[in-house]
Amino acid sequence: MLSKLLKFIKGEKDKPLDKNVEETWGPTIDYDRCKNCASCYNFCKYDVYAIENGRVVVKNKSNCIEGCSLCLDVCRYGALSFPDQNKT
Ligand code: SF4
Ligand code: SF4
Repeated sequence: MLSKLLKFIKGEKDKPLDKNVEETWGPTIDYDRCKNCASCYNFCKYDVYAIENGRVVVKNKSNCIEGCSLCLDVCRYGALSFPDQNKT
């Protein structure tokens, strides 16, 4: 948790995911669970999230700090997910 916090504060990114893995690091919102509370939007300072047409969206996924995933704990509804960094 502390290392994630430091990455978030400093904006330091881990090494990129394997180039063969098409998934880009960053959050994905499960809209079946999302309650549109905007906690993730209010928490992240990197403009990853935005509000469009009254709905929280992942607007700038590439802004996400690789290896951070702190907003995962901010979402009380389990609506966020991130790529599996251990996937080969
Ligand atoms: S993991 Fe969440 S809080 Fe961290 S930079 Fe990415 S969107 Fe922002
Ligand atoms: S914190 Fe979770 S429930 Fe709230 S807007 Fe973000 S994804 Fe949706």
